[in-house]
Amino acid sequence: MIRLENIGVTRRNRSGEDAVILEDISLSALRGKITCIVGPSGSGKSTLLRLVNRLEEPTTGRLLLEGEDMALLEPLALRRRVAMVLQKPFMFEGTVLSNLQQPFRYRNLPLPVAGSGEVARSLKLARISPELLERDARTLSGGEQQRVSLARALISSPQVLLLDEPTSALDRPATDKLAMALHDSCRQEQLAIILVTHDLRLAGRIADVLMYLERGKILEEGVGSEMLALPRSEAFRRFLAEPGKE
Ligand code: ADP
Ligand code: MG
Repeated sequence: MIRLENIGVTRRNRSGEDAVILEDISLSALRGKITCIVGPSGSGKSTLLRLVNRLEEPTTGRLLLEGEDMALLEPLALRRRVAMVLQKPFMFEGTVLSNLQQPFRYRNLPLPVAGSGEVARSLKLARISPELLERDARTLSGGEQQRVSLARALISSPQVLLLDEPTSALDRPATDKLAMALHDSCRQEQLAIILVTHDLRLAGRIADVLMYLERGKILEEGVGSEMLALPRSEAFRRFLAEPGKE
């Protein structure tokens, strides 16, 4: 489990003033559950995710990974336990198999071959046909590339998976396929997934827990489907009423 305790992030902006990016955020993301974060652009969603794999450090408060203070963990060791999937999938040059081997190459470990258990497991979780293994990764569709990013993140068996707007460039069928892959991976691998999205349809389908972030504060949280059907706070209601939510 990931736990954020009274996290605050303050950064100096271009005019030299201190800007509060995140304010007193406390939350838990449990293993085997998908925690979705929604909120307007600029509300601090990406900053929050980046804290969890230490691409950024908080100004105040602390983060715990399975009870350990993350500030005391070595960042590279931490990133083996906390994987990140980005908005735009990055494919290394070469085949899908070569992309799946990349984390092992980085760590100077023996590369898993096409028929290995690790490759088979990650392909199955990410819903990728083994026939794609020999394809040039950069020729795949956007949806397939995003699922290869997912498989590449899952092959090292992380405990936590972070995703920042992973479906914003995908059409509806590709979004649904990624959603199913995330749902199954979360349950089977007992992953704590934190997913940032502006796609409320996606959030409604797969969020176990939904959080609404606005101007660096969590203004509402609850069960995904319930919160979307019956928003309690005025702020979240206003957000839902704005057009262009898919
Ligand atoms: P979101 O992902 O919700 O769109 P971000 O986390 O990217 O929001 O950014 C939140 C706010 O913090 C924005 O107003 C952004 O301009 C500001 N911000 C992000 N990073 C920095 C930084 N390094 N220094 C100053 N301001 C930043
Ligand atoms: Mg962002």
